[in-house]
Amino acid sequence: MSKTKTLLMLPGDGIGVEVTGQVRRVIDWLSRKRGVTFDVREGLIGGASYDRHGTPLSDETLAEAMAADAVLLGAVGGPKWDDLPFDKKPERGLLRIRKEMGLFANLRPAVVFDALADASTLKLEVVKGLDIMILRELTGGIYFGQPRGIETLPDGTRKGFNTLVYTTPEIQRIARAAFDLAMKRNKKVCSVDKANVLESTVLWREEVIAVSKDYPEVELSHMYVDNAAMQLVRNPKQFDVMVTTNMFGDILSDCAAMLTGSLGMLPSASLGAPDAEGRRKALYEPVHGSAPDIAGRDIANPLATLLSFSMMLRYSFDMDAEADMIERAVKNVLAGGLRTADIMQAGKAKVSTSVMGEAIVRELDKLNV
Ligand code: NAD
Repeated sequence: MSKTKTLLMLPGDGIGVEVTGQVRRVIDWLSRKRGVTFDVREGLIGGASYDRHGTPLSDETLAEAMAADAVLLGAVGGPKWDDLPFDKKPERGLLRIRKEMGLFANLRPAVVFDALADASTLKLEVVKGLDIMILRELTGGIYFGQPRGIETLPDGTRKGFNTLVYTTPEIQRIARAAFDLAMKRNKKVCSVDKANVLESTVLWREEVIAVSKDYPEVELSHMYVDNAAMQLVRNPKQFDVMVTTNMFGDILSDCAAMLTGSLGMLPSASLGAPDAEGRRKALYEPVHGSAPDIAGRDIANPLATLLSFSMMLRYSFDMDAEADMIERAVKNVLAGGLRTADIMQAGKAKVSTSVMGEAIVRELDKLNV
């Protein structure tokens, strides 16, 4: 079996460089042991790009991302760039690449590995076996709506304002993505809105219901965002796929993230609309940031990034067998007692970023029989 897919690596800043380095090991392993070859390119984003090109995302890198089959990103940002003007900040590079690639669907799984179930701040029975998917609309809503700004009124009062706006195509495509995901999972979608207060989410609810008619096998429910926040910590296992707007998804996915106990374990994927051949633009990245407090010390947890890579194999390359192997390797290595510092528990063995990466590759070897 031999497939060549173009993969653009954008390590970014801080620990982004260290954690994406572990994915390189797995890519090498796939090539050696599974005959899967990627054409791997590497580019700059964030502060690293600003230092070299004076911009957090150059047009050349953006063009490479648009041409790639998938992009793997580490993280961006750090104190070195905090005082830059708004449009030069590392985070602007990330927002621009998402927007230009049309990545409207952000997949944030919250999975609790058995070995880490007691690391959650919630009771073991509430989170053990948790496996939910939060789907956040990523390119619309209040983060992008116009008009927006800060104005000074004639009487000297200052006014800050943003606009929450959604159109039917924007809602329909994210709803469709949610139902498609649910069809591959437990066939349940919960759509989260604030339809009792916000007209834009009344429209959201109506459009989600309309799309649901094409998916008679999927059970659809609706929840106001305030209740959804409560339910996520009260009984998260009631959910399968949760779909929501940009801002609600931003907040709820971080809330769900904490159910799993560690930022270092959380992968994500951001997908665009399928083209005529069914190919979607896609960017995969860990949820965490560049962690300047621990950068350069080989102690960051690489598992979120490795799990983001396994999502890439699953959603961009239809390589479910290899994705399953990586996820099983993570599970087994954790069950075997290895921990990076952020998930360290009494009686376990504390290992570095690179030793964790090596352990995953060794485990893949064992699984590849
Ligand atoms: P952060 O996620 O970088 O770090 C929060 C805390 O979690 C830190 O104590 C850090 O050491 C720890 N942590 C994060 N990832 C870890 C990992 N893989 N292993 C072990 N520990 C880990 O968030 P922050 O401190 O708020 O932000 C730092 C910088 O990252 C800022 O410049 C911020 O803008 C940027 N940021 C970038 C992204 C992104 O690139 N997607 C996301 C969030 C924050």
